[in-house]
Amino acid sequence: MDHFHYLRGHLHAEDVPIAHIATAVGTPFYCYSTATLTRHYTVFRDALAGLDATICYAMKANPNLAVVATLAGLGAGADVVSEGELRRALAAGVPADRIVFSGVGKTEEELTFALTCGIMQINVESEPELHMLNRLAVDLGVQASVALRVNPDVDAGTHAKITTGRKENKFGIEWIRAHRVMREAALLPGIALRGVAVHIGSQLTELEPFRDAFLRLRDLVAMLRADGIPITRLDLGGGLGVPYEDEIPPSPEAYAAVVREVLGDLDCKLIFEPGRVLVGNAGLLVSRVIHVKEGATRTFAVLDAGMNDLMRPALYDSHHAIVPVNEPPPDVERVPVDVVGPICETTDTFARQRMLPALRAGALVAFRTAGAYGAAMSSTYNSRPLIPEVLVRGDAFSLIRARPTYDEMLAQETLPDWLGGT
Ligand SMILES: *Cc1c(COP(=O)(O)O)cnc(C)c1O
Repeated sequence: MDHFHYLRGHLHAEDVPIAHIATAVGTPFYCYSTATLTRHYTVFRDALAGLDATICYAMKANPNLAVVATLAGLGAGADVVSEGELRRALAAGVPADRIVFSGVGKTEEELTFALTCGIMQINVESEPELHMLNRLAVDLGVQASVALRVNPDVDAGTHAKITTGRKENKFGIEWIRAHRVMREAALLPGIALRGVAVHIGSQLTELEPFRDAFLRLRDLVAMLRADGIPITRLDLGGGLGVPYEDEIPPSPEAYAAVVREVLGDLDCKLIFEPGRVLVGNAGLLVSRVIHVKEGATRTFAVLDAGMNDLMRPALYDSHHAIVPVNEPPPDVERVPVDVVGPICETTDTFARQRMLPALRAGALVAFRTAGAYGAAMSSTYNSRPLIPEVLVRGDAFSLIRARPTYDEMLAQETLPDWLGGT
């Protein structure tokens, strides 16, 4: 459920007409809804009631400071994957003791910064990383609070580009070595071993892969405890899907029921790292039709948004619902159209042969479910400025990232002296 709806024939974000925002900030832009963020966070949190759970929002889904601050205000911690995200989390008001640092290639500088901040947990993904972290912690005279990310080798049944829990994926410590590495970690002076972490992929639409991974985790905990290694925390990752088209992902309640059933009696603190499920439905990408072009065999709607602004269709063949900002009459005729961006790449195509009411040049359209991995993945390809982001709350809206000017973009680059630079 989200708070984007037609009111008197015009698409609104909560109480604000999308067209007003378009006039104020220009197109294209991202628009997020506070009420939707709040609702998704609350539903997820309430589903976990009774468990000793910490929700660490996976910031890579949408790292905007205002989005993170909104979730932090509701009690969320953060799951970060770089020093940049860690600094953002702190700047947005997330307490260090609610931050988890994940990622397959953290550098010495990043780990040192995390150790000096005293964050809740560093998820170690390999033996070399374990030893690097141990050395850095010993040098600093601290102990790193660590969970080992293991790779449970389960098939998440999701798009191959976003599955992470198979043995051929680069993530986590191989399942068959996990036990040995845990024993090794428990002996290192700079490591305070707290538990085990898994994250098997993103946009999961079935519960079985979660159950399979949690069952393997349960077995591992039993083995480790039998060896006298105390396990007090389990980090279950993120991955719960959202509906983009006609998929029906499990509800947070159903997901939590599996957690309770498989892991509820282990007496562990549980960490959750939801990203997409908190922010996906809370965002729109709004764009204007530049031209409607009749090709030899099909009609193209050329938008002012491109694959640099929303990369998911080009990267993962993902589907986003596209709706006109002016509500079409219920009986409107729909015609097939290819919705494309202006970029010089064939893959800059948002939808092929999509059945939409006939679009005209100048019309505004909105891509739904664009709050996750949208702005976060955007680039300036084709020297296109990063697009603005706007946060709505009730009848108010605020520009939370401004569109840079062309002068600002050019000022980031310099000419060497042999080309006339100073
Ligand atoms: C990306 C990621 C998440 C969040 O995944 P979603 O599918 O957005 O919930 C959580 N944990 C880790 C380690 C990740 O890499």
